[in-house]
Amino acid sequence: MELAVISGKGGTGKSSVTAAFATLEKEIVVADCDVDAANLYLIFNPVNHKEIPFVGSQKAVVDHSKCTVCGICESYCRFDAISEIGGRISISETSCDGCYFCSRICPTNAITMVKTAGSRLYSGAYRNGMMVYGRLAPGEENSGKLVSMVRDESKRVAGDKNIRIILLDGPPGIGCPVISTVTGADRIIIVTEPTMSGLADLTRVYEVAARFTGEVEVIINKHDINPAVTDRIEQWCLSNNTKSLGRLPFDQRVTEAMVAGKSVTEMFPDAAISIALKEIWNKISK
Ligand code: SF4
Ligand code: SF4
Repeated sequence: MELAVISGKGGTGKSSVTAAFATLEKEIVVADCDVDAANLYLIFNPVNHKEIPFVGSQKAVVDHSKCTVCGICESYCRFDAISEIGGRISISETSCDGCYFCSRICPTNAITMVKTAGSRLYSGAYRNGMMVYGRLAPGEENSGKLVSMVRDESKRVAGDKNIRIILLDGPPGIGCPVISTVTGADRIIIVTEPTMSGLADLTRVYEVAARFTGEVEVIINKHDINPAVTDRIEQWCLSNNTKSLGRLPFDQRVTEAMVAGKSVTEMFPDAAISIALKEIWNKISK
C-alpha cells in the first residue's frame, strides 16, 4: 500500500507528520519524494546500500580550441548563461537550461552538450525500516523523473523485504514532482494548517490529488492557532466528501525533536500531539 503525504505549500508540518508515521510503524519503506529539498534523511540518518547517479539534463560546454569568441552564442542564449570573461567564452552550469540552441548555432561547432550526473538516488535502511530518497543537484531539472525512480526503487525494496506499507513524503505545491508522487498512490493525505492561505492551498492541491485517487484525506496541523478556520476546513472536507483524519495541536517540541534527529512521537511520546498522531496512524495503517 502506497500512502502519499503532501501539502499545498511548504511550512505546514508535512515532513514532521511523515517522520512521526515513519517511526510509529515497525516495518515500513519511507520514500522522500521531495527531491529538490530532501530532508528526512537528516532525521533518519540512513545507512545507504545503494547510490545511483541520475542523469537529469544536459549542459553546454565550450571547446576553447575551436571558439573564435565571435559572441553569437552569448547574444542568443535566452538564459543569460553565456558570457565573455577575459577574452574567453564561459558557460554557467547553473544557468544553462540545456536547450541545445548554442550548440546548433555556433559557426565553429565549438559547443557540445554533455550529460550531467550530479543528482543521486539513495537506497538504504534506517532505524524502523528501509529508506529511499533522491537529491537533485542545484540547477538540475527533471525532478518528476527522479521521483518516479524513487518510487520504483521503494516498490522493489518493499517487494524484496515483504514490507506492506510504503510512505511517500511528497514535495510541497502542485507541480510536476507532486503529480509524480501521487499518481497511482493508494491513499493521499493532505497536511494543512488553519489559515486562509492554507485553506486556499488545500483546495488547489485537492483538485490535483482527487484526479489520481478517490482516497484523499486531510490532517489539520496546529489546529489551535485558529479554531474558526479549523472549523471551516472541516466543513470544506464534509462538502467535498473528504475525510478529516484528525487535528494536531501546535507544539514547539516538534521542532526540538527534529533538531535532535528524532520525530516528536519518539522524543515526546506522551505529548498531546504524539497521542493524536498515533490515533491518526492507527486509522491509516490498517
Ligand atoms: S558561437 Fe561558438 S565560436 Fe562563437 S563565441 Fe560562441 S562558442 Fe565561440
Ligand atoms: S544550451 Fe541553451 S541555455 Fe545552455 S548555454 Fe546554450 S543556449 Fe544557453
